[in-house]
Amino acid sequence: MFRFLTKTATQIFRNTIRTFSGHLPSDIGSTFKDDILRYEVAVIGGGIIGTAIARQLKMNCSSLKTILIEKEDIFGKHQSRNNSGVIHCGIYYRPGSLKAKLCQKGIKSLYDYCHQREIPYTKNGKLITATDVREIESLKTLYERGLENNVDGLELLETMDKILEKEPRCKGLRSIWCPTTGNVNFEMVTNSFAQDYRMKKGDILLNNNVNSVKPSGDQDYPILLKCNENFHIKTKYLITSGGLQSGKLYELIRGESICNSRIFVTFRVNYHILKGKPVKVNIYETPDLELPFLGVHLSPTPTTTLLGPTAVPAFSVEGYNEEELNLKYLRNTLTSPNFLNMTRRYISKCLTQVQRRLCPADYVMKLKKLADFNEDDICNGPVAVQTQLLNADGTFQDDFVFEFFEGNDIQKRIINCVFLPSPAATSCLAIAEYVAKHFFDEYNPKR
Ligand SMILES: Cc1cc2nc3c(=O)[nH]c(=O)nc-3n(C[C@H](O)[C@H](O)[C@H](O)COP(=O)(O)OP(=O)(O)OC[C@H]3O[C@@H](n4cnc5c(N)ncnc54)[C@H](O)[C@@H]3O)c2cc1C
Repeated sequence: MFRFLTKTATQIFRNTIRTFSGHLPSDIGSTFKDDILRYEVAVIGGGIIGTAIARQLKMNCSSLKTILIEKEDIFGKHQSRNNSGVIHCGIYYRPGSLKAKLCQKGIKSLYDYCHQREIPYTKNGKLITATDVREIESLKTLYERGLENNVDGLELLETMDKILEKEPRCKGLRSIWCPTTGNVNFEMVTNSFAQDYRMKKGDILLNNNVNSVKPSGDQDYPILLKCNENFHIKTKYLITSGGLQSGKLYELIRGESICNSRIFVTFRVNYHILKGKPVKVNIYETPDLELPFLGVHLSPTPTTTLLGPTAVPAFSVEGYNEEELNLKYLRNTLTSPNFLNMTRRYISKCLTQVQRRLCPADYVMKLKKLADFNEDDICNGPVAVQTQLLNADGTFQDDFVFEFFEGNDIQKRIINCVFLPSPAATSCLAIAEYVAKHFFDEYNPKR
């Protein structure tokens, strides 16, 4: 009976791989020893980052035996689909930070990639706008930061005429003009990466949640992954890019969910849609430079304008609905000193976000200071969830976080993409190159 069940499970597994890889690699049969699949590297997470990394590994070494594992039935179902769709020019980030470096490099690669693959995109520019004299100093600081980051073509627009030349609907006092900003559907980019990877004969396993990462006891393939359908995969190396689930993956690998005294907290993000002719360019408010958030904005889509967003703490890790409640997650978050320090530190900003969510009139007023539109044309838009990493003192982690082969035992064979918030979608190709470089510096497969 047991043998029959094992055989049936193996057959289902083979079919799953066959179905989702679009082909059956000629040597996959030889990997079925003891009904366990063996790989040189497994990538967990089929968002824009995981697909970009898997693709890059195969581009660098086509014979590398790889598997990309995704828990959903499609790629990019979470952050890679639900975002603002803005190709960021790299102005905001602390000079020298990973965000600044990888965004600068990534934006060029992304435009080239979209052009080559005929993925629709625009390079229509962005106005970052001061609507109040008190914001002008911050705007100038941001402009200087952009120059330090070598962002192409920045201009400080000091008169209304110059602003209106760029966007007749903008209402700012002063603006920074960022000509290299653009818009794209990142879900299409994700699917295109997955397609490239598939063409390079990389294996894909959809509908499988990795719920255990343990030593296998096998010297050659020391990491054992278990998926929800009880499939077992042995691998020499592992790369994780779990997006919203980074906290859970961190816990599977390290046995604790706290990353260097930082905790993962999720926020529910609500957008609105402005019907009618889209704005010509992206219009952003002047951000609060103390926080790693870009503020509210208007961004064109092919047929409408995306407005927003507002962000309030979610009640579960994938808490897209207000009713979705995970008591364990909620208890751990609300009682952590990090969260309490965050609310204390940013109390007035937290209240503004809650007020904007509960009383949209206030938030519409802020948007109307940025651009001229008819508020009757606004309707509810998409909902997203985003993860933040909160430091012990309540401040937000403001750079990308990776762990490369850090720790003991199997941890020495793991690259963990711990925290990749915006502008990670813009930077995806540069991130993939960065991770692949670390990987091949460590592992030298027979090419
Ligand atoms: C509201 C919002 C707006 C944004 N706007 C922009 C923007 O305009 N421009 C920009 O550049 N960036 C933007 N970003 C950031 C960008 O979208 C993300 O940084 C990027 O999508 C992260 O990609 P990812 O692949 O790491 O994560 P995700 O897209 O979340 O993918 C992670 C994947 O891993 C899978 N997974 C997780 N755990 C497991 C497991 N145990 N087993 C198997 N699979 C697993 C998940 O199902 C998921 O598909 C925005 C983000 C948000 C939330």
